[in-house]
Amino acid sequence: MTLRTSIFSKLQSIVGKANCTRKKEELVCYAYDATARTYLPDAVLFPQNAQEISAILRLANEEGFFVIPRGAGSGMTGGSLAVKGGVILVTARMNRIFKIDKDNLIAHVEPGVVTGQFHKAVEKEGLFYPPDPSSSDFSTLGGNLAECAGGPRAVKYGVTRDYVLGLEAVLPTGEIIRTGVQTAKGVVGYDLTRLLVGSEGTLGIITRITLRLLPLPDTVRAMMAIFNKIETAAETVSEIFRSGIIPRTIEFMDNASIRCVENYLKAGLPVEAEALLLIEEDGRASEVDFLIQRIEKLCLSQGAKQVAIAKTKAARENLWKARKAISPALFQYGPDKINEDIVVPRSRIPDMVRKINALRDETGLTMVSFGHAGDGNIHFNIMLDKKNEADLKKAQGAIEDLFNYTLELGGTISGEHGVGITKAPYMAKEIGYVEMNLMKKIKTIFDPNGVLNPGKIFTSP
Ligand SMILES: Cc1cc2nc3c(=O)[nH]c(=O)nc-3n(C[C@H](O)[C@H](O)[C@H](O)COP(=O)(O)OP(=O)(O)OC[C@H]3O[C@@H](n4cnc5c(N)ncnc54)[C@H](O)[C@@H]3O)c2cc1C
Repeated sequence: MTLRTSIFSKLQSIVGKANCTRKKEELVCYAYDATARTYLPDAVLFPQNAQEISAILRLANEEGFFVIPRGAGSGMTGGSLAVKGGVILVTARMNRIFKIDKDNLIAHVEPGVVTGQFHKAVEKEGLFYPPDPSSSDFSTLGGNLAECAGGPRAVKYGVTRDYVLGLEAVLPTGEIIRTGVQTAKGVVGYDLTRLLVGSEGTLGIITRITLRLLPLPDTVRAMMAIFNKIETAAETVSEIFRSGIIPRTIEFMDNASIRCVENYLKAGLPVEAEALLLIEEDGRASEVDFLIQRIEKLCLSQGAKQVAIAKTKAARENLWKARKAISPALFQYGPDKINEDIVVPRSRIPDMVRKINALRDETGLTMVSFGHAGDGNIHFNIMLDKKNEADLKKAQGAIEDLFNYTLELGGTISGEHGVGITKAPYMAKEIGYVEMNLMKKIKTIFDPNGVLNPGKIFTSP
């Protein structure tokens, strides 16, 4: 459905002419996300407060057009795409940090704040906001909440939902609600905050967030453990936990990711290694030194070829630069990427690694794995040219197989990227009939006319 001019005029009067567009050259900038799929919206709006968003959603219900919330558009599953047309509602102009409250260790923010900028702001005050998706230089807190983003530090500190105390949100029908608390705890009524976090912009538009903070750890140290066998790296992860240590991060890169990053960045990575682990510890200096030495010994006794401890801040930053470069560097292997975000119980990572090797041998496709090994969260990528139908069919078969095995191991098909459109066809593999119906009923209660972010989670376009 294209948006009638009379409706666009009403939207202009809600947000102001400078805060909306339907020029094609501007629409294309909001037609894609990290899935590389494109759907041209009918208009893009940049509201500045909850009242404007409320008026937009009331109009959407009266006139029957769709509204799709969007932060930075870095989502990996198509959540911010206008798959059925409609208006994209961008939160970029709602980017104020209202207060960082050192006495109560909380912060009040708007959803358009870029995550990395929030990290810097709280760190200046000696505080710490742990959730750190690798996209934190550009993704927004609103998008992080909507996807319940994880990141490397989740292994020790948990994911986004663990830091959200309360919200202001606009319901699809236009009412403005406040959920949760401003206090360290609170249990009055159902937990609507937790329902909205991870709802992928389908139940409401988050307009204000109260976040929990921690004191900033005073020391952080990083190391890279290099392995000749990928299974040894996977087994080392379990061994570290068995020894009673929970590191701040344990990231994993396989040989294909090491090679493509090295080619892209020249960061000095060991291209012959079959795998490497990027491990960090944080806390008080003496404790961190002790743990780093224990982890080093443990890696070597498990069979690591070498362990390199980052001696300077620059060396540590270099390791993270390499880790964060994997996603863009992957495109050296092919023009298209199918990327999955499976999680298995940590102790089953060696089984999953063997499965991935077998899938690679069976299909002959280029497969690249990396991710948050400490959480059992593997980002599994097939790089291919989707125009090659035979390869595409083989890749789809491999994904089915991978998902079935993930669930057999007691895992989940998405650890942090959400369902969006790309995982919607697989939802029923993991979610039972009764549970799925309950979820659909919740969606209908929140959004009786289906105006907010249609075509996501339950059905794919
Ligand atoms: C290189 C790269 C690395 C990444 N690394 C990680 C990682 O380590 N961990 C991880 O979890 N993810 C990662 N991601 C995925 C992505 O960055 C996250 O899902 C992020 O949370 C999306 O934020 P965004 O602002 O870009 O949201 P968008 O992509 O714009 O939107 C994502 C979803 O949130 C909804 N939404 C946005 N704002 C609101 C709002 N205010 N209210 C309600 N709904 C809203 C949208 O409708 C959509 O469904 C990565 C992506 C890239 C490209």
